[in-house]
Amino acid sequence: MQANKLKKSDQKDLIFELIAKEEQRQKEMIGLIPSENHSSANVRAALGSCLSSKYAEGYPKRRYYEGNQVIDEIELEAQDRLKKLFQVPHVNVQPYSGSPANSAVEFALLEEGDTMMGLSLSSGGHLTHGHPKVTFSGKYFHSVQYGLDENARIDYEQVRQLALKHKPKLIVAGTTAYPFILDFAKFAEIADEVGAYLLADISHITGLVVAGEHPSPIPYAHVVMSTTHKTFRGPRGAMIMVTERGLKKDADLADKIDKAVFPALQGGPHNETTAAIAIAALEALQPEFKEYGKQIRKNTDTLANALKIGGLKLVGDGSENHLILIDLTPFGEGFGTQVAFAMDVAGIYANRNTIPNEPCSPFYPSGIRIGTPLVTTRGMKEKEMKKIAQWIVQVVDRIKDEQLPADKEQRRTFLKDFKKRIIKDEALLKIRAEVKEMAQNFPLFTW
Ligand SMILES: *Cc1c(COP(=O)(O)O)cnc(C)c1O
Repeated sequence: MQANKLKKSDQKDLIFELIAKEEQRQKEMIGLIPSENHSSANVRAALGSCLSSKYAEGYPKRRYYEGNQVIDEIELEAQDRLKKLFQVPHVNVQPYSGSPANSAVEFALLEEGDTMMGLSLSSGGHLTHGHPKVTFSGKYFHSVQYGLDENARIDYEQVRQLALKHKPKLIVAGTTAYPFILDFAKFAEIADEVGAYLLADISHITGLVVAGEHPSPIPYAHVVMSTTHKTFRGPRGAMIMVTERGLKKDADLADKIDKAVFPALQGGPHNETTAAIAIAALEALQPEFKEYGKQIRKNTDTLANALKIGGLKLVGDGSENHLILIDLTPFGEGFGTQVAFAMDVAGIYANRNTIPNEPCSPFYPSGIRIGTPLVTTRGMKEKEMKKIAQWIVQVVDRIKDEQLPADKEQRRTFLKDFKKRIIKDEALLKIRAEVKEMAQNFPLFTW
């Protein structure tokens, strides 16, 4: 009775109407943002559970609040499942998200002013890997950034030379907009040469690593960080793992990481997230998850090939993981914003992105970043990928004359006017109707 009553009044709340509206948007559109995923009903049930009412500062059996008997069991179970899944001796599931997790690793391993190395943002690295000035990592540490070679691959020789010159205490191997396999063995060799810790940030590719579709960093890195909401398909959150190799280098490593997460940077853990991570870990231990990873790879290759057949240029000419960078420079510099917006009008959402050696600017980048984790979770396969590629090609063709003005002052007004016009474009709205018809046949989560 009480529950019923609550439900009725809840439904009148505008926020619940908006949640329903967002769900409808997700169902009717095709999501190609490579860092997003849909999670299972079980993961979402845990997130909406009573666990969020409990304070549990500390770690299992070492809490600062009473009443954590059950929370302890949940957190220990989450740790056990992840240890089994990744074959690691230690894991911390408390980081609120990927960025705080990286800050915790940096805080644990470095003193202010120490040197760290990471892939630059414009080459596909993450802000938290030492992006200068505006980030915690770039401001409090001496950050040295490495980049790509002429084939858009990580320039391992440059990594080595920079490491020898700057003697970093920490090297980060991880990417957020990089379509190729990472050579963790090479990174480990360089880190060992200069005595640095190696952090593998596999946030984007965890699902592929679990499925055996990307080499694992576990034998090579000292610390492995991952978000839990990307290809791993769990709740928004993160985990930090310490490997055997890490404990061999530094027996206190696990303790340092735990203390950096709590009490250095965080307070009470989000127990509902911990439970949802445990559920996602069990899902990832199932054979179906391997199938999911395999299908991501098949879908990405099919999508990449179909885009190329449609005349689009891809950074590095293809993909070895779940994501693709479309290089739009043949259509004009800084064309990414227009294409991302027009795709959204046509029912396909992605994000604009810089390309290696970006000729325009980070504000008006020349690329589009797309990926297949979302559509693969919905059960779409090769046939649908070919259709999606055709739609993207049609969108680009439709707006190919909508070039950014050379004059920088005029760009803002041009984009404002472009958005106003294109939102009513009949050709794009026709594609949107076709997208909707197809997308509706695929529930958000089918695995
Ligand atoms: C997404 C991502 C992060 C940050 O995760 P948030 O949960 O958004 O803070 C860190 N590193 C990499 C490589 C990522 O892709």
